[in-house]
Amino acid sequence: MSLPYHDPVEIFWFILGGVVLAILVATVVIVQSNRQAALEARAGAPALLPAEPEPPASSVPPAVPEPGALDVPEAPASRMARLRRRLSGSSNPLARGLLSLLSAETLDAEAWDDLEATLITSDLGVGPTTELITALRRELSIDGHADPARARTVLRRELLNLVDPTMDRRLVTEGSGGLPGVVMVVGVNGTGKTTTIGKLARVLVAEHKSVVLGAADTFRAAAADQLETWGSRVGVPTVRGPEGGDPASVAFDAVGRGIDDAVDVVVVDTAGRLHTKSGLMDELGKIKRVIERKAPVTEVLLVIDATTGQNGLTQARVFADVVNITGIVLSKLDGSAKGGIVVQVQRELGVPVKLIGLGEGVDDLAPFDASDFVDALLSEG
Ligand code: GDP
Ligand code: GDP
Ligand code: MG
Repeated sequence: MSLPYHDPVEIFWFILGGVVLAILVATVVIVQSNRQAALEARAGAPALLPAEPEPPASSVPPAVPEPGALDVPEAPASRMARLRRRLSGSSNPLARGLLSLLSAETLDAEAWDDLEATLITSDLGVGPTTELITALRRELSIDGHADPARARTVLRRELLNLVDPTMDRRLVTEGSGGLPGVVMVVGVNGTGKTTTIGKLARVLVAEHKSVVLGAADTFRAAAADQLETWGSRVGVPTVRGPEGGDPASVAFDAVGRGIDDAVDVVVVDTAGRLHTKSGLMDELGKIKRVIERKAPVTEVLLVIDATTGQNGLTQARVFADVVNITGIVLSKLDGSAKGGIVVQVQRELGVPVKLIGLGEGVDDLAPFDASDFVDALLSEG
């Protein structure tokens, strides 16, 4: 073999050119194979972690957790961290309004007016807003100068008063006389009843309690399917009846099953068709009466969508007329809710908020705690 070049300099450039070409080719090959591997890894992923199936167009999308994601419930502390993020000043006008008070240089009339307007538009209600402003002005306006540390202390104390830390927020899930505890969940459709029951069942199971669910929303088959799907994900049976069947009968059977199987808690889902108010009134009252032929209802939870503000309050009144509400679940506090509704709805019904919904996931339910809530509002986020 003879080179086309004879001059040593030409040979040098020829070899150098060859080496550079080889490096270029090698680089291209490596980059290509890496990209191929990445593509393959991505394409292979769904086999390991199935994507959420498309919900059927006709039914309510059942936001139900994936199986296998349920081994260990999330610790309450990290749920509270989530609440803090959701309610903190960076994302919540109520919290921002409160924090602006803390950062104000002077507390003049304009600053107070601004705060008052913010509180009223944050679902706190006129009465509680007036009380809060009056208390804050009394304590903080003495010399007109702001003292942020003192303002924070006073604000925290007054907010806590409004949220009322003395209310008993324990969920009564224990039955007596060997009977299961019975939790009835009521509220307007779409507020989050079925989802709340799924999350609650998960919490009960994590506390080593046995649970039966009753699908007494017999209005649509999809409603019972959704509940049953939640039940099977958290590993508890669901008692259901025929679509359009008598909801009281399903509730009766569910509690009967709970008694026969000696379970700890029966949780009964219901329909909430507010547009037929008198029908709803009859139906819920009847469900409760029929259940109580078997076992006392230990807890009636009213689910209110926290993002609906005044509307949610109106609904609460309607339901409180029908059944004796013992606790409120404020769902969707992760959404655009400003949080003030907690104070109003408790006052309106004289019943504590016991649980809060922080999302659609299985661990997105937390016990309501007054000081955690106030601290969340006062955190800078
Ligand atoms: P129901 O008609 O009262 O039984 O309401 P569902 O349980 O079917 O919930 C209605 C919708 O609200 C569903 O899409 C749920 O996933 C959603 N939802 C329920 N609770 C929460 C919550 O706390 N946060 C958010 N973001 N969505 C929720
Ligand atoms: P009504 O439908 O207005 O007459 O209300 P009732 O209080 O008589 O009962 C309502 C429903 O609850 C009935 O249709 C039954 O399905 C159910 N129920 C009530 N009591 C019993 C009972 O003792 N056994 C069974 N299996 N179901 C009952
Ligand atoms: Mg439902």
